[in-house]
Amino acid sequence: MDFSPSPQMQELLSQVREFIDTKVIPVEETVKKNGFRASLPEINKLRAEVRKRGWWTPQMHKEHGGMGLTLVEHGLLSVELGRSQLGHYSFNCQAPDAGNMEILAQFGTEEQKKTYLEPVVRGEKRSCFAMTEPEHAGSNPVWMSTRAVKDGDDYVINGHKWYTSSADGASFTIVMAVTDPEQQPHFRASMIIVPLDNPGYELVRNISVMGDEGDDWASHSEVRFTNCRVSQSNLLGGEGMGFAIAQERLGPGRIHHCMRWLGICERSFEIMCDYAVKREIAPGTPLGTRQMVQQWIAESRAEIDAAKWYVLHAAWSIEKFGQKASRDEISCIKFYVAGVLQRVVDRAVQALGGLGVSDDTPLSHYYRHERPARIYDGPDEVHKQSVAKRILKQYGMTAPK
Ligand SMILES: Cc1cc2nc3c(=O)[nH]c(=O)nc-3n(C[C@H](O)[C@H](O)[C@H](O)COP(=O)(O)OP(=O)(O)OC[C@H]3O[C@@H](n4cnc5c(N)ncnc54)[C@H](O)[C@@H]3O)c2cc1C
Repeated sequence: MDFSPSPQMQELLSQVREFIDTKVIPVEETVKKNGFRASLPEINKLRAEVRKRGWWTPQMHKEHGGMGLTLVEHGLLSVELGRSQLGHYSFNCQAPDAGNMEILAQFGTEEQKKTYLEPVVRGEKRSCFAMTEPEHAGSNPVWMSTRAVKDGDDYVINGHKWYTSSADGASFTIVMAVTDPEQQPHFRASMIIVPLDNPGYELVRNISVMGDEGDDWASHSEVRFTNCRVSQSNLLGGEGMGFAIAQERLGPGRIHHCMRWLGICERSFEIMCDYAVKREIAPGTPLGTRQMVQQWIAESRAEIDAAKWYVLHAAWSIEKFGQKASRDEISCIKFYVAGVLQRVVDRAVQALGGLGVSDDTPLSHYYRHERPARIYDGPDEVHKQSVAKRILKQYGMTAPK
């Protein structure tokens, strides 16, 4: 297979790289100083510029107002966008909206698309996704207490969720709730769209993550649903289809996350190399003359490149053979790239010494906010376990769970 970008795609990638370097990265300083919400006027200027250049919502089909890039092409673009924490938001392909847009486009009714999908594609509304509950292990997604009970034409939802990313300032959430507890575990839950001005919804708090609560899109919330009444027309897909839809959401979502992480790796790598050349450990002796630092640089380069080709191959496999046939690769890239991310950021922090742990470079932000990469969308251990179980089954293992 050939992953080389077309000449037009190559041109797009270099233009986007320049845009990220010259326009987006300078706004990071404003966000660091003032927070996300207070920086929205500046961020919205970036979004307006992106739209003017025809780069808006690159992952969505043209019929839904996007650029219609393939998964491989969007993966390549995602590396460029991932070089700034504001890249994906500036292009309207940020999580969790990107995943919500995909499932609304695929499973939404015409009415749902008009009310919920289209305003998110236009960048007028934001959304979030509420599945994980503090009382139950998120790594066992069929175990949840949130219930949606039919009452007349409505569902009445009661439940407690946390790590609902970007709930602060969002207009609606897609909540995963048990609609039929008597069904087989994977058919018990459904996805229901809840507008967040509903009186039965409460944003309890933004969770402080490694000392940072964040705000607006850049935050993760604890939320509660108390007798939260929504019309049954807000059901997404069919009743009991919650897990099937979640699976659809996760495949491309993992490609997006992995490529964004590789953008972070590239930026950390650039910072490390630049510092290794400039920082003298004695007069006339740059840090980069030390073999240990050279080893970090060589190992990081090899790991980033290996990870990139692995993710592109997984994206190609999803497009060619579908998600089910590609599930081992999707699990492998999730834990492999999260590990590369952690190692590359850690080496860069170490190479910069005191500067590395200060907030004067983006590295400390990555260290705080990207450590969760090994936890969300399935912890490393769960992915490793499911890949290994399928492999061992081919060798005849039939041990109980
Ligand atoms: C920054 C961030 C953003 C998130 N965003 C969202 C969001 O937008 N919406 C949402 O619904 N959720 C979100 N989550 C939740 C996330 O999906 C869960 O944290 C994740 O699924 C793990 O669930 P848990 O935290 O309950 O850990 P648990 O399931 O309690 O697991 C704890 C640890 O146990 C270990 N473990 C678990 N199972 C096994 C096993 N089978 N074998 C060996 N070890 C195991 C793992 O090391 C795991 O880290 C987010 C989480 C974070 C940190």
